[in-house]
Amino acid sequence: MTSADTHVTIGKAMCEETPPEPCGIVIFGASGDLVARKLLPALFGLYRRNLLPERFFVLGFARTPMTDEEFRTRVRDCILSAHPEGVEELDEFLALCRYTHGEYDDPEAYADLALCSSECALDYHAADNLLFYLALPPQLHAVTVRHLYNAGLTKEGDDGHPWRRVVFEKPFGHDLASALKLDDTLCSMLRQEQIFRMDHYLGKETVQSILMFRFANAIFEPLWNRSYIDHVQITVAESLGVEHRSAYYDNAGCLRDMFQNHMMQMLALVAMEPPTSFDSERVRDERVKLLHSIRPWSKDEICSSVVRAQYGAGIKADGSPLKAYLDEPGIAPRSSTETYVAAKLFIDNWRWQGVPFFLRSGKRMPRKVSEIAVTFRRVPHSMFGMHSKAEMPANVLILKIQPEEGIDLHIQAKQPGPKSCMSTMTLAFKYHEIFGINPPDAYERLLLDCMLGDRTLFWSREGVEAAWQLITPILETWRDTPEASPLLHYPAGSWGPDASARLIRTIGKRWRE
Ligand code: NDP
Repeated sequence: MTSADTHVTIGKAMCEETPPEPCGIVIFGASGDLVARKLLPALFGLYRRNLLPERFFVLGFARTPMTDEEFRTRVRDCILSAHPEGVEELDEFLALCRYTHGEYDDPEAYADLALCSSECALDYHAADNLLFYLALPPQLHAVTVRHLYNAGLTKEGDDGHPWRRVVFEKPFGHDLASALKLDDTLCSMLRQEQIFRMDHYLGKETVQSILMFRFANAIFEPLWNRSYIDHVQITVAESLGVEHRSAYYDNAGCLRDMFQNHMMQMLALVAMEPPTSFDSERVRDERVKLLHSIRPWSKDEICSSVVRAQYGAGIKADGSPLKAYLDEPGIAPRSSTETYVAAKLFIDNWRWQGVPFFLRSGKRMPRKVSEIAVTFRRVPHSMFGMHSKAEMPANVLILKIQPEEGIDLHIQAKQPGPKSCMSTMTLAFKYHEIFGINPPDAYERLLLDCMLGDRTLFWSREGVEAAWQLITPILETWRDTPEASPLLHYPAGSWGPDASARLIRTIGKRWRE
């Protein structure tokens, strides 16, 4: 049975989306990659869905000198490459865009910015609410906030109006100490409610739907524990290599780039306890509690339960050659940066005691896929004589996040024919087939939430700290005793090194491919 055959009735949706109150967004690093590929198309997507405030403006800021018109041409090009069908509303949207330039550490540039944003607020009748989006290399975050603060731009009204909020892109520090230092700096100038730490994975529909799936259905939660679940696999595989982000990636590596943030958030959502309400603080608290319950790896466990590797030359499925990481432009000649990590971990609480969680993420894998696969325990006894208990595959529930968002459930079912003819069937829910649309880009959801002041889908200070507490000892072990957990290699276009397969074989299982 394919999903096309599946008959699904969609009930009356219990949802409403109201546009935020008037505001402006000031984008730092407006000439950059993230802004071009994600932010501007997402803002335009919200505009077309009538979800931007009725009175709104976009003010770009960067060092690159550009006139408003040149900036608008750039905005047009970015949006057309993401939304080729959206030409009609584009001119209206472009009329909302302005630009000013300056150095990120020049107080005069911020005085100019203050004037410019006031002018925009008047011209567009957009109140004085401002969202500052720092789409900048992380080393510029603290200095930019310092200047915004000194220029009075982060100051809110006594009753919270006008509001001022600042969005930070990952990474939040490069280890525990630097993350805490950055956070102390930010917290000396901003209230927690003004800080939005972005993790775009949390904006994906399927990631959000994990909470509804678990806590809006009474049938799954009773099974969601050590009594019924055998193990959980979380995979974030990319088919691409480092592409144009080599300078950033060669300093960061897979553990910092994927594990410290996206992987930990997905793990937290799938394993956390039910919050008392779908309220930002309650949900964030439960995620943090879960991160605190992950059993820290000892030095020995880091060597035996965490695999790191880098891709060498390989071939694609179509036979074309793929370069080794070390031959990619911009990578240090003897770089030991990992492009793949697999890890086994346990969660020390009543619900999950003894259930292994396997996490893996890598670049240059055979295909792009992000998913969480929950494998249930096998039946306790086989009553079907021809099939032993060991032959009957376990039920697997797959929360599919990329490239296609949806949910699959593998079950055993009777196949037409002989009495005990059985095979595995998939009940498949594909988001775009059921709802007739692809889910909006994660950045749309998250930008909207920033404007609405809803921090549910953003990292909290405690969450960042808890994730770095787990990850930093791994980084230190790799640095201090590299011979104990050596950097392995895998051919580009493969599913990673053999050691990763051996890791999951410790429980007699295999990675899903
Ligand atoms: P870019 O490298 O494109 O930088 C953004 C802008 O910052 C540039 O256009 C440039 O503008 C300015 N800039 C760059 N380097 C410097 C420097 N050394 N000194 C001063 N200004 C500089 O960054 P991205 O757009 O790729 O990323 C922005 C943020 O988003 C980063 O924190 C990144 O980690 C994060 N991020 C990016 C993703 C992506 O896919 N690109 C994905 C997820 C997160 P100008 O010279 O005009 O001032």
